[in-house]
Amino acid sequence: MDELASLATVRALLRQYGIRPRKRWGQNFLINPGILEKIVAAAEISPADTVVEVGPGIGALTARLTALAGHVVAVEIDRSLVALLKERFSACPNLFLVEGDALKADFDALVRAAGGTLPYKVVANLPYYVTTPLLTRLLNTNFTVSLLVVMVQKEVALRLVARPGTKEYGSLSVLAQYRSEAELVTVVSRGSFFPAPAVDSAVVKLRLRSAPPVAVPDEGLFFRVVRAAFGQRRKTLLNALAGAGLGRGRQEWEAVLKQAGIDPQRRGETLDLAAFAAIARVLAEGVK
Ligand code: SAM
Repeated sequence: MDELASLATVRALLRQYGIRPRKRWGQNFLINPGILEKIVAAAEISPADTVVEVGPGIGALTARLTALAGHVVAVEIDRSLVALLKERFSACPNLFLVEGDALKADFDALVRAAGGTLPYKVVANLPYYVTTPLLTRLLNTNFTVSLLVVMVQKEVALRLVARPGTKEYGSLSVLAQYRSEAELVTVVSRGSFFPAPAVDSAVVKLRLRSAPPVAVPDEGLFFRVVRAAFGQRRKTLLNALAGAGLGRGRQEWEAVLKQAGIDPQRRGETLDLAAFAAIARVLAEGVK
């Protein structure tokens, strides 16, 4: 497979197939081969791996993935790009190309249908509009994913890896870090894409955990507390929780926080995973 991640090739292929990059599907194609190498290196791909790629586009990343992995399942929503990929990858036996919406796809079922192995890795240059729903889905559904290496907007990448007390820290940070070890791989300038998007991007690596880093008896409750704590960032933790409609009054929340050993005057954004877990445990077990 020739070099697909260059401006000349992307332009020529799009022209040849009469395709105009569509904004609504986040079609910003990578034209920087160095970034492709950083993505595949971060994904530590070996022939034993099955990789799911979301949005293969014209196949720049797909070509590297099929060269390195045992099986690649690529899910592309745009029919005209699927037609292009079918032709260009006709001689590639380990690519299982799927036309469809990655936000609705059952990745485990696709990997099984492709003859791949579980757990698998997800590697993608994501279209911006799917980033948060897709990551939330992958982190919350029981899909059998071991590792995610994804290109996302820089701002989202910073949220995924943010530490407590920073302005980027929020419920997405807690979700990502509860389910995975999250790491920033590299920042990618907008000039690495054609057409260039309005914002910079970054590659993040999320290694899924086999067990959460903190003990949480009721995950639903844990995430309700997290969302409530970040719901009104300028309020104290006590005011944010009491005003969140979680069915408890101010005094009850004061008692919960006291038993969890957390100062009610703190702001939600200063709490680490262990502190949120402590609150969720008191709620689940009852104030003593
Ligand atoms: N992988 C290519 C690259 O790196 O150059 C293209 C990346 S481009 C940012 C995003 C790709 O995702 C496009 O090909 C777009 O058509 C596709 N896409 C957009 N929404 C999608 C969805 N819901 N499901 C699957 N693919 C989607």
